[in-house]
Amino acid sequence: MSVRRRTLLKVIVLGDSGVGKTSLMNQYVHKRFSQQYKATIGADFVTKELQIDDRLVTLQIWDTAGQERFQSLGVAFYRGADCCVLVYDVNVMKSFDTLDNWHEEFLKQANPPDPRTFPFILLGNKIDVDGGNSRVVSEKKAKEWCASKGNIPYFETSAKEDYNVDAAFFCIAKTALASEREQDIYFQGIPEAVSDAEPRGGCAC
Ligand code: GDP
Ligand code: MG
Repeated sequence: MSVRRRTLLKVIVLGDSGVGKTSLMNQYVHKRFSQQYKATIGADFVTKELQIDDRLVTLQIWDTAGQERFQSLGVAFYRGADCCVLVYDVNVMKSFDTLDNWHEEFLKQANPPDPRTFPFILLGNKIDVDGGNSRVVSEKKAKEWCASKGNIPYFETSAKEDYNVDAAFFCIAKTALASEREQDIYFQGIPEAVSDAEPRGGCAC
């Protein structure tokens, strides 16, 4: 018997203000079938459903409401994240330089069980600007940064021209799902310490 399993994955998008986080999300979600927009306290999320292998996956993509300027996103934003998407603008050096801070801030706030294997993805956005002439961060430099953080996948994107946006989010979903499966296996390995009286929910799995 084949049972379709639905999986909810929480994805958060971080990076300096103005790099194109909201535009990337809108490009990805709004041009396709399932779209939903919800206002939440201090942050917004959109959802998108995808089929990956035998799994129906709902990506819940959280966007900031501009508070990234103050780096004060609050614990609810980070809580239970399955994947963290870091975005910088290939034309703005400062947005690349602050990636270290965002990476560190995520690990501090979300506090994942194994920081070294937590799924991150880096997007270098706005590659369309000025035909690439105003670019200040090379692909090589970005890839070196990714390698230094444990081989984070890297995509160059244009939210404006819809370049590589689908591919990037598909990789995001796959990476988050792979990590989720590992957790399933881990939890299955725990003996019946959790009784029926244990409250349900509270966990995004
Ligand atoms: P956020 O603050 O990171 O959410 O950035 P926004 O999505 O609000 O984008 C900031 C500005 O950059 C807006 O004026 C967007 O239209 C513009 N923008 C975003 N992505 C791109 C892109 O890929 N190419 C170009 N040329 N402009 C972009
Ligand atoms: Mg925004």
